[in-house]
Amino acid sequence: MDWDTLYETCITCKKCRLSETRTNVVFGVGRRDAEVVFIGEGPGQNEDLKGEPFVGRAGQLLDDMLAMIDLTRENIFIANIVKCRPPGNRDPMADEQTACTPWLEQQLAILNPKIVVSLGRISAMYMISSEFKISRDHGKWFDKDGVQMMALFHPAALLRDPRRRPETFVDLKSLQQKIREICTNTYH
Ligand code: URA
Ligand code: SF4
Repeated sequence: MDWDTLYETCITCKKCRLSETRTNVVFGVGRRDAEVVFIGEGPGQNEDLKGEPFVGRAGQLLDDMLAMIDLTRENIFIANIVKCRPPGNRDPMADEQTACTPWLEQQLAILNPKIVVSLGRISAMYMISSEFKISRDHGKWFDKDGVQMMALFHPAALLRDPRRRPETFVDLKSLQQKIREICTNTYH
């Protein structure tokens, strides 16, 4: 499937119960030749209304985090594990993740990124390892079939617990270093 067909089919998806309560499917944003892909958990209320990932308060902090290492929404791609909002912002259930992640996998197959950055535990447990512990494993690099993966604390968690911010800055600098080492279009 090409990108436009993927988009058109995805935005009308009814594969799980989240379709019943959503306003918009949040497909993802960014460049189609992104070498770096950020993956969150799922849309919140603002994202559901706008159809765009990370546009609420956590999204504002994500923009600030990106800016610290000279990234913008335009030189990466941003998506989520589930594309429709879980009601009341609960965690996406296992069966919802199973229903939705084939969309993400198809996006990743087309994008073929060099680096994947998980935002928070739910994303890291799916992308990196089911054993992942965010407080123990954030900032560590994992090689998965040649793709370099790492996780950051979720920006919403950083809003709740600002004491995690210095560690996140160290993780962001490590990401910047990795991008300089292996990416060719991200900073160009
Ligand atoms: N939190 C997420 O995990 N994803 C979003 O898109 C917004 C908030
Ligand atoms: Fe489809 Fe994913 Fe939305 Fe469920 S969450 S309806 S699988 S797009």
